[in-house]
Amino acid sequence: MKTGQINVQTENIFPIIKKFLYSDHEIFLRELVSNAVDASQKLKVLSSNGEYKGELGELKVDVILDRENKTLTIRDHGIGMTEEEIDKYINQIAFSGAEEFVSQYQGKEGAEQIIGHFGLGFYSAFMVAERVQIQSLSRHDGAQAVQWESNGSPEFTITEIEKADRGTDIILYLNEDALEFNEKPRIQVILDKYCKFLPIPVFFGTKTEYIDSPDGEKDEKGNIKRVSIEVPNQVNTIKPAWTIAPSSLKEEDYQSFYRELYPSTFEAPLFNIHLNVDYPFNLTGILYFPKIKENVEVQRNKINLYSNQVFITDNVEEIVPEFLTLLHGVIDSPDIPLNVSRSYLQSDSNVKKISSHITKKVADKLGEMFVKDRKDFEDKWNDLYIFVQYGMLSDDKFAEKAKSFALFKNTEGQFFTVEEYLEKIKEKQTNKNEETIVLYTSDAEGQFSYVKQAKDRQLDVIVLEGPLAPHWIQKLEQTFEKVRFSRVDADSLDKLIDKGEEIPSKLSKAEEEKIKPIFEEVIQKDKFTVQLESMPENEAPILITQPEFIRRMMEQQRMGGGGFYGAFPEMYQLVINGNHPVMGKLLKMKSVRQKETVKQLIDLAMLSQGLLKGEALTEFIQRSVSEMVES
Ligand code: ADP
Repeated sequence: MKTGQINVQTENIFPIIKKFLYSDHEIFLRELVSNAVDASQKLKVLSSNGEYKGELGELKVDVILDRENKTLTIRDHGIGMTEEEIDKYINQIAFSGAEEFVSQYQGKEGAEQIIGHFGLGFYSAFMVAERVQIQSLSRHDGAQAVQWESNGSPEFTITEIEKADRGTDIILYLNEDALEFNEKPRIQVILDKYCKFLPIPVFFGTKTEYIDSPDGEKDEKGNIKRVSIEVPNQVNTIKPAWTIAPSSLKEEDYQSFYRELYPSTFEAPLFNIHLNVDYPFNLTGILYFPKIKENVEVQRNKINLYSNQVFITDNVEEIVPEFLTLLHGVIDSPDIPLNVSRSYLQSDSNVKKISSHITKKVADKLGEMFVKDRKDFEDKWNDLYIFVQYGMLSDDKFAEKAKSFALFKNTEGQFFTVEEYLEKIKEKQTNKNEETIVLYTSDAEGQFSYVKQAKDRQLDVIVLEGPLAPHWIQKLEQTFEKVRFSRVDADSLDKLIDKGEEIPSKLSKAEEEKIKPIFEEVIQKDKFTVQLESMPENEAPILITQPEFIRRMMEQQRMGGGGFYGAFPEMYQLVINGNHPVMGKLLKMKSVRQKETVKQLIDLAMLSQGLLKGEALTEFIQRSVSEMVES
């Protein structure tokens, strides 16, 4: 037996590492299992290029929990290590890597962020173990098996041992404060999270399970000869869908992979994109489009980032543009640096390339679907539009591409691209300043009377719903010159689309001057401005409207859009249709009756705008009923 001092300057790095890694203790298992997988894959490579001539055997990784002795063993049948290799890779490289990490990041801001992704590798074992053994038999002919052991101080021992099988066992003697890892379900969950798609079979079982297993091989003394975990379960799928060529996958394969990723999500995704790039960076993955609901926040952060099939994180915010975090699925790229801070990631050139590649692919896919089967795309639009709007608002390149497939749906349920639509309405809906006015409703039911009035005039109305609509409108107004959006109830139609043609008034000047004050007297002055107009006589006598710009400010205010609008009052317009026959009658009425009629007219207008509520509504009903009794 030999003893030695690990070659590090820092007195004792483990307490620091332990403290740093506190929040992410569980990653030790990811690190050790991926080392075991690497060692197995390296052997495969050596075998295929002729450098290793022995039998490969079954290359698998076993994770064995011995609850009684509180140990966790990670076993592989890979390349193994000789004493020299342990000295080089473990004593020197790995320790100095850990030391460098500590000296670089100790006490620095954001260190916790980095740590989770630093891959401290082998050393993370000491976060949970008071003692770690490596028992290894190298692939080299006639190699001597060795055991390395350390208790977390810089001292270690190396002993020659007997070991029948090629490969490495890492044995962790769990710390008293890490006994959560002495529980089978806990280990199962961790393996499921990080190791589910590793490329070498990984098995997990407890030692007891093995002993009870009838197939267990035992030596003369009745002890386990070789822990074979064929019976206990395999934790991973070694060839997940994203690693398979798209041409060999069917739609149902994508669907079942989705269910494998999100077992608790019921709703099937709309469609998917299979990413596959070798150059200038390496990227594979499958992105799924979920049906996007109004409450986008709950749907975020479902993309899992992998590096060579090892799960890294489900927080990809700095790696893909924000709007893409609404998608689900997997991205696998060894070219995304993991040992840098999250904020640094965004400026990394590979990450930038990857991010814009994904954006382009997503836009191309949508464009392709639109061209290929427009009807189908239209059917999906309801579940897609928030995503498309979000993308257009946050990414100019996406916005440019999306011009060809972003759709308007009108109240008849017909779909148009923006350009098709502008062409369609150009003739009827262009005002005297040559601006084309897009009339929209945010609620076709609630704004029914306004929509109807527009349609009665052969105008077209589109439906713009969803949380992003106000922003999207602004974006479109900036993108398309001389296009304005107005909600149908923003003003009278003649004002909304001002063609500069006046409808002659049926009232005399003197009558006009009398009408306005009658209404002003009844209406709440701090909330309404009164305006008299000559509209067609078959249209509504009174309209309650809210100017487009006021409503937009209110909306911004509600969405937390800023201090300046903070005190903006809620204002409406009361538009009197001077040509409506009721106005002539009104002028002839006695004052009491006149007042009652005005109230009634205003309430009717309020009612059709959905503004009549509570006491005012009750009063209106009572007034209407007594009217019937009196007349
Ligand atoms: P990394 O994996 O990032 O190189 P680690 O600290 O995890 O860092 O491991 C250091 C080195 O030790 C590895 O590069 C590898 O050469 C060696 N090693 C670790 N685990 C094993 C194993 N199970 N089998 C063979 N070699 C191993």
